[in-house]
Amino acid sequence: MVGKVYLIGAGPGDPELLTLKAVRALGEADVVLVDDLVGREVLRFARRARVIEVGKRGGCKSTPQQFIERLMARCARRGRVVARLKGGDPFVFGRGGEEMLALRAAGIDYEVVPGVTAGLGIAAAMDVPVTHRELAHGVTFVSGHLRNGTEPDWRTLALTGTTLVVYMGFARVRHIAAELLAGGMPPCTPAAAVSSGTLPGERRVVTRLARLADDVARAGITSPALLVIGGVVSLARGTAAGLTRRDAA
Ligand code: SAH
Repeated sequence: MVGKVYLIGAGPGDPELLTLKAVRALGEADVVLVDDLVGREVLRFARRARVIEVGKRGGCKSTPQQFIERLMARCARRGRVVARLKGGDPFVFGRGGEEMLALRAAGIDYEVVPGVTAGLGIAAAMDVPVTHRELAHGVTFVSGHLRNGTEPDWRTLALTGTTLVVYMGFARVRHIAAELLAGGMPPCTPAAAVSSGTLPGERRVVTRLARLADDVARAGITSPALLVIGGVVSLARGTAAGLTRRDAA
């Protein structure tokens, strides 16, 4: 019997944001390979699977990517159904693309199960419509993490008129905010930072760009966290009275 690998997006954390397809695939799985960003509650749907933790959080001890890819292929060749469970959507900053290409190159049967990416799930959970017509031309997902010494051109991004959703940018929030301001984004632009979004330990701060770096420290936000920057953040539930739509425009 030939096995198969499901590349599954687990959503941002809340198990109810799993898709029905993800729940079915987890139920079929013999082996689950899980990242450390995935909320552990979702593993209850993997009733009969052996769970292998393959976390790779920035800066910490991590499982080499090649090892994960080989392990998936080996299990599938032995006839196992493998669930590769990744936070959010597997193809949004999640190396799901690399894993898919490795499986394809190895001739392993696979199926991609999309998930709710953190940038959409966490924003929606705070009542932030990321493309609200009066306040944004669209939404830009960007990684704040440096790779090969390069980083996004924040000053250009400041001028797009789109909501900016920054993944993996928390450690550099001060730099990112300074660059956006230098690029001409108004200091009063509403901005939020969220850690453990949609999970019981969620922490969030809604403030303005000029104060973002100071306010995240005060609010006890820790890495990993998501940044959402733009006028639409003024619509967040429970937003302070001072942060009105008029300010956001
Ligand atoms: N594939 C994932 C993203 C992986 S990159 C997705 O589609 O959501 C990891 C980054 O995602 C983190 O550094 C953080 O910026 C963000 N992130 C993912 N889940 C999060 C959560 N529950 N709370 C806050 N940020 C989260």
